[in-house]
Amino acid sequence: MTIDTAPRPQEEPVGPVDGQSSPRYAGFTTFARLPRINDVSGWDVAVVGVPFDAGVTFRSGARFGPAAVREASRLLRPYNPALESMPFADAQVVDAGDLDANPFDIESALHDMQKGFAPLMSDGRPVITLGGDHTVALPALRAVTAEHGPVALVHFDAHLDTWDTYFGAPYTHGTPFRRASEEGLLRNDRSAHVGIRGSLYSKQDLLDDHDLGFTIVHCRDFDRLGAPGIIDRILDRIGDAPLYISIDIDVLDPGFAPGTGTPEAGGMTSRELLEVLRGLSETRIVSADIVEVSPPYDHASITAVAAANLAYELITIMSAQQAAR
Ligand code: MN
Ligand code: MN
Repeated sequence: MTIDTAPRPQEEPVGPVDGQSSPRYAGFTTFARLPRINDVSGWDVAVVGVPFDAGVTFRSGARFGPAAVREASRLLRPYNPALESMPFADAQVVDAGDLDANPFDIESALHDMQKGFAPLMSDGRPVITLGGDHTVALPALRAVTAEHGPVALVHFDAHLDTWDTYFGAPYTHGTPFRRASEEGLLRNDRSAHVGIRGSLYSKQDLLDDHDLGFTIVHCRDFDRLGAPGIIDRILDRIGDAPLYISIDIDVLDPGFAPGTGTPEAGGMTSRELLEVLRGLSETRIVSADIVEVSPPYDHASITAVAAANLAYELITIMSAQQAAR
């Protein structure tokens, strides 16, 4: 797909299909029934799918994530009462479709994905990526830093994803932030993992992560600090650095997100995560991803609905920031 990257003309944003005249379960499936990128004369915020799951280490299926999250996003309505905002009226939000990525050659896929992200992020415009497995965060970060320089990372996940290799493979869904760190894409001193829990291979996993410079907000810290305390810790950590948010849906408890590849008991509630994201509304979010939704393990779209609502919160923040530029 060829994309015209010219800035958006000063005309009213084209919103989603009106749910009062066309039922939300009808019509073409784009994210929140927003216009496709080539249906409008420019955009401020793009949603893009990356149906890629060749990097998983356990249950597969995240390649079907973008389609499932789009389908679940039909439920979304135009007004966000928690942030008192009309995200699709503040700025032009579009669905940019899916990036093509080679399912048999990960390094080639990473190259293709980065090439796909670049025009969507031109002029510093934020992108929200729907994965796909967590491997897709690496090419997204490569493209983001080409625009913004090294970024702070707030990484919501049950897992650190800073392992070195699996079976000798350097590019997997468990290694993107080790590679990103080595490539100088991250402000490690400004970055945090949030929601970490579950078993590890050894204590060395934590020590290696610490040596890379990350800080960890453990999931069990939520009981002690609550959402406001967690938000304070994150804000303190990132300061005024440009921020990339990466959400592995397995940060949520399997009760809130059963449809994922590597579930871990004892996770966050969707209410907690939504609240923490709202607490980041004053930060400078340069792009974000929501990954690891695996529809074959989902029931009643529980996981896809959670992901669609998380994306909506992020879009609300990005859209308000774009309108204020
Ligand atoms: Mn994970
Ligand atoms: Mn992950």
